[in-house]
Amino acid sequence: MREQTRKWLCCPRHVSFPAHIMDFLHSQLNKVTQQLAFVSVDPIDWKFYVQVISWTVTLFESYLLLRQYPLYSKTEPPAALAAHISASDFEKSQKYGKDKAKFALFSGFYKQCLDSVLLHYGFYAWSWDFTGRAMARFGYGVEYQITQSIGFVFLLFFLSSLPTLPLSVYSTFVLEEKYGFNKTSPGLFVADLLKGWAIGAVLLTPFLWAFLRIFNWAGDRFVPWLMAFVLAFQLIMVIIYPMVIQPLFNKLSPLAEGELRNRIESLASKLKFPLTHLYEIDGSKRSSHSNAYFFGLPWSKHIVIFDTLIQQSQPEEVEAVLAHELGHWYYLHPTKMLAISQIHVFTIFALFPAFLHAPPVLASFDFPQSRCRTAAHHRRVPPLPGQLASTLTFERDLMILTPLEAFVSIGMHAVSRHFEWQADRFACELQEKLSDEKMSDMGDRLGRALITLHVKNLSTVWVDWLYSAYHHSHPTLTERLKGLESFQKKKL
Ligand SMILES: [Zn+2]
Repeated sequence: MREQTRKWLCCPRHVSFPAHIMDFLHSQLNKVTQQLAFVSVDPIDWKFYVQVISWTVTLFESYLLLRQYPLYSKTEPPAALAAHISASDFEKSQKYGKDKAKFALFSGFYKQCLDSVLLHYGFYAWSWDFTGRAMARFGYGVEYQITQSIGFVFLLFFLSSLPTLPLSVYSTFVLEEKYGFNKTSPGLFVADLLKGWAIGAVLLTPFLWAFLRIFNWAGDRFVPWLMAFVLAFQLIMVIIYPMVIQPLFNKLSPLAEGELRNRIESLASKLKFPLTHLYEIDGSKRSSHSNAYFFGLPWSKHIVIFDTLIQQSQPEEVEAVLAHELGHWYYLHPTKMLAISQIHVFTIFALFPAFLHAPPVLASFDFPQSRCRTAAHHRRVPPLPGQLASTLTFERDLMILTPLEAFVSIGMHAVSRHFEWQADRFACELQEKLSDEKMSDMGDRLGRALITLHVKNLSTVWVDWLYSAYHHSHPTLTERLKGLESFQKKKL
């Protein structure tokens, strides 16, 4: 047994238990790599393709904005909403939409130009060399490859996030401010930014360290190991984020005793939802956009409601919003989404080995030829610089997959909309599910809550279908109201 454990730890090639499954997996993955063998030989101008493809995506997104833009000039809301939205609110939401669309168009082009310039002038290779030189000055040589890799990632992140800072300043203090949503002070904005960077550093350092260690250890058979690692990290984050990170930005306090608390507790217990804590969050500290969500482990869950939602809606309406949220729990939607994202990660990892030993890819992104050759000569366990450079290059290569990613996101949104629809139906059917007459009007209540949320958030009323398919994870308000109405009718 001990011997087996030792072997298990020593090398993934000697893992005995699921060996046949692993061998099958690796033989399939090898086939994929062989299919993509041209990547390591052909002198393809990858940089050029990345430029062309990323520009195509930016232009497509701009085209979507141009499809959506004229809808902000409509003077009447859709018939289904006419009774619920005042003329002044409608006008304000149209203006807000127009301003946001103009901003999105500008920032899309700005970011694309920036990316393009950085890519063109070999920013990635420069950052790698810069980190190496900086470390050498402090007496750290090439043997500290993981440290250099982590430094490289931070330098990349820091340098590429600075130029987009003015965009978030404008969005918060000009755009959101104009429509009364911004509650952030400049001091809070800077504190949030620094806190965000600090947390990023604290989380990313061990993540990258472990990621690169596994990579190094598993050699060409890294796919299942890195998959398991990424999944474990995601699961840990699900627990850590709301308990450790969110409280650094917002205050969660127990929801006050009273009608709302009673309603939610009773709903949770009827549905056997393992509710441990019920919180109110001071979302209004930064923004007056509102929401509600749940988190936790399968046997112990916590519900969080934004103070803005509580202020804007009646207790019975907030209860209906929670009924919808518990529908997501009932149908295991978060778990299903996680499973889908694993398939996505797997696909990306499966394509990765082909790019890992591909000197032409590194060369086309301006990494020195000698290093590329080194990577090629050590095919079994390539040196880390090559690995990391490949990792980041592959990230760039993901841009080659960007059109595919666009389809993935449309597909994910379609799934998510289906889940929203299911959760809405769940709320409407609670009356029968729980044999509780008091829940007969759940659909109406949810409808009213959605309208209030929509109107208060000045959300877009008229939506172009293609724009919506690409950008929205939720059905439009009109679609949801129609759905709720049909679920109610079916019951009668
Ligand atoms: Zn939902």
